[in-house]
Amino acid sequence: MAEHHDHEHDHEHQDGDVQRVVGELPDPGKGTARPITVVGNPVLHRETQTVTAFDDDLAALVDDMFQSMYAAEGVGLAANQIGVDLKVFVYDCPDDEGVRHVGHVVNPVLEELPAGRRTLDDSQEGCLSVPTAYQELARPDYAAVTGQDKHGNPIRVEGTGFFARCLQHETDHLYGYLYIDRLSKRDRKSALRQMADGTPKYATVPND
Ligand SMILES: [Zn+2]
Repeated sequence: MAEHHDHEHDHEHQDGDVQRVVGELPDPGKGTARPITVVGNPVLHRETQTVTAFDDDLAALVDDMFQSMYAAEGVGLAANQIGVDLKVFVYDCPDDEGVRHVGHVVNPVLEELPAGRRTLDDSQEGCLSVPTAYQELARPDYAAVTGQDKHGNPIRVEGTGFFARCLQHETDHLYGYLYIDRLSKRDRKSALRQMADGTPKYATVPND
């Protein structure tokens, strides 16, 4: 997911306090940034494969995904956004309370929300695979994802506000959906027009 263009970095309003981080920061010396696939590339529009091998290749993929996300200044990235057909996403994303969430999820499944827990938040959303476009999209303001870590251990990640949006956005990617697929026809058109008019500040994979 792309950083909200109006979304100030939370550490800027922390007034010198140490920012709270939930999760483990990646080793900055590991991994290589790869170019980002964009809307129209088939790998983004179909469900990705379930991960079955929790090996060194998977760990290296997670490292590359973090580097790719940071190079593009995103707050979340799914494996198919660097052209890899596997169910993995990474994130380094603030919530609305200024807590920074960092981590990865393999084979994520979004938990169904109890009916009473569905409060919608209609903030703006963007995506590294729809460069330079932003559009309002209503989503539940709470999300929980279950899956595995890169070693195969079961994990559960939950979040609120902007981070809840990120968890839903990244899980959607791995099932072949972009956020623009959830927009009205008119808003989708507007997002694609913004993308056509803009120039991404990071390397992308050209579509044939
Ligand atoms: Zn995205």
